[in-house]
Amino acid sequence: MTTWRLIYHGFAPEEEGQREALCTLGNGYLATRGAVPESQAGDVHYPGTYVAGCYNRLRDSVNSQSVENESLVNVPNWLPLTFRISGGPWFALSDVDVLAYRQELDLRRGILIRVVRFRDTAGRTTRLAQRRFVHMECEHLCGLQTTLVAEDWAGTLEVRSALDGTVENTGVERYRKLSSRHLRPVRAEAPDDETLLLVTATTRSYIRIAQAARTRVVRQHNGDVGRSLKAGPDWVAHHLVTDLLLGASITIDKVVAIYTSRDRAIFEPASAAVNALARAPDFDELLERHVRAWDRLWQRARVEIGHADTLRVIRLHLFHLLQTASEHCVDLDVGVPARGLHGEAYRGHVLWDELFVFPILNLRLPLITRALLRYRYRRLPEARWAAREQGYAGAMFPWQSGSDGREESQHIHLNPFSGRWVRDTSHLQRHIGIAVAYNVWQYYQATGDDEFLSHYGAEMILDIARFWGSLAAYDHGRDRYVIRGVMGPDEFHTGYPDAPEDGIDNNAYTNVMAAWVLLRALEVLDMLPDVRRGEITESLGLSQEETLRWEEISRRLYVPFHEDGIISQFEGYQDLEEFDWAGYHEKYADIRRLDRLLEAEGDSPNRYKLSKQADVLMLFYLLSADELSGLLDHLGYPWDPGNIPRTIDYYLARTAHGSTLSAVVHASVLARAHRHRALDYFIEALRSDIADIQGGTTAEGIHLAAMAGSVDVLQRCFAGVEVRGDTLWLNPYWPAELGVLEFTMSYRQHTLTLRIAGRTARVTAGPGTQSPIRICCRDEVAELRPGEAVELPFLGAG
Ligand code: BGC
Repeated sequence: MTTWRLIYHGFAPEEEGQREALCTLGNGYLATRGAVPESQAGDVHYPGTYVAGCYNRLRDSVNSQSVENESLVNVPNWLPLTFRISGGPWFALSDVDVLAYRQELDLRRGILIRVVRFRDTAGRTTRLAQRRFVHMECEHLCGLQTTLVAEDWAGTLEVRSALDGTVENTGVERYRKLSSRHLRPVRAEAPDDETLLLVTATTRSYIRIAQAARTRVVRQHNGDVGRSLKAGPDWVAHHLVTDLLLGASITIDKVVAIYTSRDRAIFEPASAAVNALARAPDFDELLERHVRAWDRLWQRARVEIGHADTLRVIRLHLFHLLQTASEHCVDLDVGVPARGLHGEAYRGHVLWDELFVFPILNLRLPLITRALLRYRYRRLPEARWAAREQGYAGAMFPWQSGSDGREESQHIHLNPFSGRWVRDTSHLQRHIGIAVAYNVWQYYQATGDDEFLSHYGAEMILDIARFWGSLAAYDHGRDRYVIRGVMGPDEFHTGYPDAPEDGIDNNAYTNVMAAWVLLRALEVLDMLPDVRRGEITESLGLSQEETLRWEEISRRLYVPFHEDGIISQFEGYQDLEEFDWAGYHEKYADIRRLDRLLEAEGDSPNRYKLSKQADVLMLFYLLSADELSGLLDHLGYPWDPGNIPRTIDYYLARTAHGSTLSAVVHASVLARAHRHRALDYFIEALRSDIADIQGGTTAEGIHLAAMAGSVDVLQRCFAGVEVRGDTLWLNPYWPAELGVLEFTMSYRQHTLTLRIAGRTARVTAGPGTQSPIRICCRDEVAELRPGEAVELPFLGAG
């Protein structure tokens, strides 16, 4: 198995959902799961196609409660292509004797290939080879090429190629009790002899989706091809009929154009799709251009690691990241859906997961981060409204965001273990705003994009700071500010045991990072050019009194500690019961989802010292040891960095890792102190989707933050690349077992190659005329000019 391919041998129905997610092809504008073209949604297959930002809302009544959910819509399936021989049954894997089966995802070229040899019930042997792309250059185009070889038979071949708008959003079993039909038919027709057109519209967001398909027989040994049209209100198909001679082969190309009424620079989507298709070259030429586009992309995202297994998964992870967030997002007004465009978990919502995704884009394709941050910026008015509604100032971003930026978190969810609908309070994760502010700041650190900071970033950071300033309440008894009634990143703690109100108080992660945001807001104000500062303070009505209050709160936020100096996850955590880890490990094969297990037992995680994922440790993940010490010092809590390993051990022993983010954070925070344990968690992060470690969730969409996060573990933790204070920092703790590392990154307009071999880090800058940059490795500072290289020795952990 090479480092550029994901290969599956044999057809395994039970694995198909996971394969479909992992073999998804996309380009940031749209993505299509790797479902086989002849399949329909059912127990085995789930063909899904999603267009970024295409959401719709549906209402239901659950236990006499009205619920409304917004979902990323599964748009009509463009894949359907199947065939039958001499009037026999239409091809289905379940009906034939599969002699050989190979599916291959070519990561370098962005192609999904399938080769099947089968014998049908009439004893005929046929070879089927298919390849497909979702075009990386022309984002509206997709293609599927099918070649059939009649190995030992001659007869009539009928091919059916369709656009299917009967699809629904039924990809996640837990959601199936709720409504799922988002589309209504608009038009199904054939604009010309070889073209099909299907137009549908979403039922409440009224987005029109147009797909035009051209099915063409391009290579065959003999015979004419007959064609007929079949259509229903929400599907349309071409039937082709031809004769195949013994041993003959035939190749059928299907090229599809997809547009929606959200697109720019079009008159309307149907004519745009038909025109784009008419102008599109044939499959082979399109494929060639697609491969070249991937080639250019891989130049930007180049990575080499001396450990083949690691490299292969890292490439797979980068591949899916580049397919979800691409330059085609730049004009789209879209965010980063937690599960990519690869499935329907979290209904395509945008959560804090971009915190794990942006570090990779910032140092490769910062233009994309800029665009994705503007998704947040456009929703600032909604976030301000949400804060106001709750009696706060500033901007309160939603935990789950979709089309217009209102809170999309569900209020009740189904616990599959108990079959009960359970209250969901995850919207109390107000720390989402911290992630938005942190992301703006990191993007600025990587790019020095003053214009962005001044026009968009500053406003976001200031309004988020303002929110924390108003949420923090002064506690006379403590002479400190407190933040009550929130949830931290650990979703298992939704409140205090048996307490009537939701939320916990003084989540350490939230409070420390709120102080960080307030300080950044003051820093940003200082950095702005006078005119812009004047404009912003005027438009936000920001007074000196308010900024003085921010300063005061940034010094006086309360942070809970245990008696032995360990930062407490939240106030009162220390009084909770210890959890019987050994007992539960014995009782259940998998205890990652303790929230579901305990609810099913009539118990609650709120009673125990346990976490779903890293919470306090997020502080060590986001802040360097120096930054954290400085911040705690500023808050008036003397902090001994020697406490870090003890704190890691304390929480590691109490974490269920019920989120794939957990391994990423643990690998990172362990990188310096416990290299071997860090590697274990890194491997776990690599396995998130290829081994489907959360037990069946990959089929519902990849875990994009874990994928990007695993690359970030390499980049930020093992290679030690950080950007702050106009300097590129290199602080490698490179594990020698991973061999030599080399990757390309872009920093402040420079294209840099970082190579870590042995105990030396070498940074080479590409040619150009850019201003020099500062690089700092441990205590050595170097200036790097275009075309030059620096070599910096380090004492590695390896
Ligand atoms: C995690 C969240 C995460 C979400 C989407 C959940 O399991 O607890 O932190 O944002 O998954 O990835």
